[in-house]
Amino acid sequence: MVRQEFLTAIKAGQEGRELSREEILLLLSSTDEEENQLLFSEADRVRQNAVGDEVHLRAIVEFSNYCVQNCLYCGLRRDNHELVRYRMSPAEIVEVAIKARTQGFQTVVLQSGEDSWFTGDRLAGVIQKIKEQADLAITLSVGERTYADYWAWKKAGADRYLLKYETTSPALFKNLRPERDLADRLKALGSLQELGYEVGSGNMVGLPGQTNEDLAADIQLFCKMDFDMIGISPFIAHPQTPLARVVNGELGKVLKVLAITRIVTKDTNLPATTATGIVQDKGRQEALLSGANVIMLNMTPSAYRKHYQIYPGKERSPLEMQAIPEMLFSLRRKIGLGKGQRIHSRPAEKPESLPPANFSLLSI
Ligand code: SAM
Ligand code: SF4
Repeated sequence: MVRQEFLTAIKAGQEGRELSREEILLLLSSTDEEENQLLFSEADRVRQNAVGDEVHLRAIVEFSNYCVQNCLYCGLRRDNHELVRYRMSPAEIVEVAIKARTQGFQTVVLQSGEDSWFTGDRLAGVIQKIKEQADLAITLSVGERTYADYWAWKKAGADRYLLKYETTSPALFKNLRPERDLADRLKALGSLQELGYEVGSGNMVGLPGQTNEDLAADIQLFCKMDFDMIGISPFIAHPQTPLARVVNGELGKVLKVLAITRIVTKDTNLPATTATGIVQDKGRQEALLSGANVIMLNMTPSAYRKHYQIYPGKERSPLEMQAIPEMLFSLRRKIGLGKGQRIHSRPAEKPESLPPANFSLLSI
């Protein structure tokens, strides 16, 4: 039985009224199957109105698994000495990007650990070569770097940047990334927006100690910062990390966060993340029915792929390029044409303000 207050919250989204934190919490915490189905179908309706039926495909190239950071959740953390490390050469990265273009991709995502071997200039050279040789949008996902690096890469031709804040809970962030500061990450996101990148962020769902209140705050900040892309993934425990024994995030909760995010942000590009397909076989299909409109496909050469162990099972991601047309057809969706940049369904508004160095989460 759908409660009246649940219907009112769903309707707030329809009317373009901002959802309050209490309303987000109400949508997040329902255990009623009928209410949850209503949430997913409303997100699907908003997705269709705002961004249509196209699903944009991105080719991801995981070009280095070296990382100076030590995030507790990630298999690439520097203290994981069991991991075989690799680094693709600049020429190899360019070659794989060009191959992705010949296979029909129009966006390539270059992802790595925080690897200082790829200096600002070196990665700028890679970006420039790809741009010279292939008509591709380039997304970078290489972690927190200096403003000068962000600037150089934009100048070299990079179009987009992904930097998830992972969680907006300062305490949780500090526990999981003890050497880093949430405020710095938010400041970096502001700098990237200022430099004219299409900017993506996102979070993990199911982090140890994370509450619905934390997730509601994540969603509110997605909205406030007006991101162009938002990746929402379940946490998946990696056996060679301090979080080895933590239970994986639940797909159902991920789908709720995704659906609410679609309802409140409307036209943002939302991937059906790879991790959703790891926690459940049809996870990515479910995500596409709950607001998602983007899929990333792995183009990392097979010799390296097995070593990009952010979490286990990634190398045998169930979705491959050949399976996409049939899968999308079964969902009454189609492959996106063009580069799949964010198309604003309402007049673009600048984020209220870029977070200053001492950005306070209390202001959310
Ligand atoms: N090093 C860059 C960074 O951290 O932004 C980019 C690469 S990092 C591997 C990409 C994403 O992997 C992170 O933003 C994080 O959300 C995700 N990730 C890491 N460990 C994970 C885990 N155990 N489960 C799910 N996602 C994870
Ligand atoms: Fe490094 Fe990114 Fe993994 Fe953190 S999440 S350890 S920064 S690769």
